[in-house]
Amino acid sequence: MCAAAGYTRREMTHHYTVLHGGTILTFSGAVPSDAATRAGGDPGVPDAAGRRATAICYAHERILAVGADEEVLALAGPDSHVVDLGGRAVLPGFVEPHAHPYWEGWAAGMAVIAGRDRRAALRAVPGAAERLEPDAWLVARYDPTGWDRPDDPTRDDLDRAVPDRPVLLAHVSGHAVMANSLALALASIGAGTPDQPGRMMIDRDGSGEPTGIIRGPDAWDRVAAAMPPPTAAEGRAALARAADLLAADGVTNVADADVGATHGVAAELAAWGAAISSGEMPLRVALLPGLVRIAPGPGDAVPSPAEIAGLLPESVRDRVRLTHVKLKADGALTTHTAWLRAPYADAPHAGGPVHDPEVLAERVRRAVQVGWGIATHAIGDAAVAAVLDAYAAAPPAPPSARAHRLEHAMLLDAGLAARLAASGVTAVVQPEFLAWAAATYGARLGDERAARLLPFAALLAAGIPMAFSSDRPVVAGAPLDGVRAALRHDAGLSVAEAFHAWTAAGALALGDEDAGRLEVGYRADLVILSGDPTAISRDGWSRADDGIRVVATVAAGRLVAGGLVGLE
Ligand SMILES: [Zn+2]
Repeated sequence: MCAAAGYTRREMTHHYTVLHGGTILTFSGAVPSDAATRAGGDPGVPDAAGRRATAICYAHERILAVGADEEVLALAGPDSHVVDLGGRAVLPGFVEPHAHPYWEGWAAGMAVIAGRDRRAALRAVPGAAERLEPDAWLVARYDPTGWDRPDDPTRDDLDRAVPDRPVLLAHVSGHAVMANSLALALASIGAGTPDQPGRMMIDRDGSGEPTGIIRGPDAWDRVAAAMPPPTAAEGRAALARAADLLAADGVTNVADADVGATHGVAAELAAWGAAISSGEMPLRVALLPGLVRIAPGPGDAVPSPAEIAGLLPESVRDRVRLTHVKLKADGALTTHTAWLRAPYADAPHAGGPVHDPEVLAERVRRAVQVGWGIATHAIGDAAVAAVLDAYAAAPPAPPSARAHRLEHAMLLDAGLAARLAASGVTAVVQPEFLAWAAATYGARLGDERAARLLPFAALLAAGIPMAFSSDRPVVAGAPLDGVRAALRHDAGLSVAEAFHAWTAAGALALGDEDAGRLEVGYRADLVILSGDPTAISRDGWSRADDGIRVVATVAAGRLVAGGLVGLE
C-alpha cells in the first residue's frame, strides 16, 4: 500500500511530515453506499470509509505515502516532522460544497435574534446597536424557528425596539428579511412598491402598508442596496474570519454557493481575490456565482467560467474552482417560500416558484451552453420536479462541464427519487437542518410529508450521488454535528456513509479530483480527529456522546487550525 512514486530517497528526507500510530481512513476504494457492501456479504470489500492504514506522509502540498507504520516511517529523514498520532484518526479534510463563507464572515459579528420567548428576543435588538455609530444601520439575523408565536413580528415591534436608526434583520435561512420603518424608507419601499412574484414579496397590512417582512431571493438585495457599500478591507476580513471558523471545524475545501448574494459579484470576487492571495483564506475554494447576478435577464448572455475567472487576480485563478453557477427554483420551508405540490399545512396559499418553469429552463440552457454546471436550490417537491425538467431539456453539457447539482432536495417522493437517480444529478443535502428546524418543518408539511424529508440511506441505495453540506451560516455547520444529525434522523445510514458524504462525495460534487481521499498524489488536505469515528456506534453518534472532536486541520500540507505535538 505504501508508494512514493517519482521521489528519490534523498528528496524525501526534506521537510516531510509523517503521521503514524493512528487510523488513517483513506476513502480510497470506498463505495458510497454500505448497503451494497452488506448485500454482497464479502468482508474483503471496503465500506464507505475505504481502505484503512496507520501512517501517512506528505510534503509540498501532496500526499507521498499511505501505509503501515514501518513502511511510512522509513521515509522520514533528519528534517522530517514525525508525529505520533497516539491512536487518533486522520481523514480527508471535510469538504463543504454548499456554504456562504463570505456572508458567514459578516454574520460572525452579528447578533442573532432568537430563543423561545419572542418578546424577550425583540427586546434584545437594541443591545445589538450599542457599539454602533449614531446613524449607522443595525444589521443582525433572526431565527424564528424556536419562537413561541407562529406569526411574524412587524415593523412596529422593531420601531419600538429601535426607533432612531435603520434596522435590517436577515432571516437565518437567507430567504426573508425584516426591516424597521427607517430602513424601509431609506430603501424606498412603501405601499406603492409592487411585488415581484417569486423574487420579492412584501407582506402588507389591511391598508396595503408593508409590515416590515419581505420574502424572496431579492429581499435582502433591495434593502441592503440602501446601505453604504463595504470597503475592500472589510470583505477580506470577513473571509479571514470565515476561514478560521471553517478550519476549526475540520473543513479544508469550501464552496461559496451564491457569490454576489451579500454585496454583489464584483465586491465579493475582489474580497476573495484579496483573501486568497494574502493567505488569509488558505482553504481550497470553489465559487458559484449567482446566475441571476451575472445574467440578470432570462435572455441575457451568460458570462463563461473563463470570463468570471478574468475578474479574479491572475495569481489566484489556479486556486479557485469555477465550475457551477447557483440558481434558485424556490425558497425555504421556514419562510413559507418553498414551492410545494400540495398546500402548506399551516398556510394554504403560501409558496411558489422563483422563476416560471420556462424561464428556469431557459436560464439553465443558456448557462450550460457556455460551459457551466448548474447547482439549483430546490426544497419543495414542485421545485425539484421543475429543476429535473429543466436539466432534462438542456442541451448536452460540454465534456469539460461538471454534473449538475440539486441543492437541498428536501421533499421527494418515490417518483422524484427515481427521476433524480436516473438523471445523474448530485444531491447536495444538509443534515443539520433537521436538528435545527424539525418542529417548523412538521408545522409546515404535516406528519406524512415531514416524515419523507431527506431519506439519506434510500438516496444512496438508489444510486444518487449524495454530498453533505451545512449551508452555514444558516446553521452553525460543523461537519461532526452534521454527522450526528444525519445519524439521528436516518436509522438506515451508516457512520462510514455519513463521513463519505462529508469527504469523497463532496469532492466529487465540486469536481475536485485531487481532494476527498487520502491517496498518493492527492492534495494533503486532512483533518485529525480525536479517535476513529467508525469505531463509535451509530447510536453513540446519534445521541451525540461519541466524544469525537477535531484535533487539527491541515490544508495543502499546512496546519490551519488546532494542533498536535510535532505538527506544523
Ligand atoms: Zn445556501
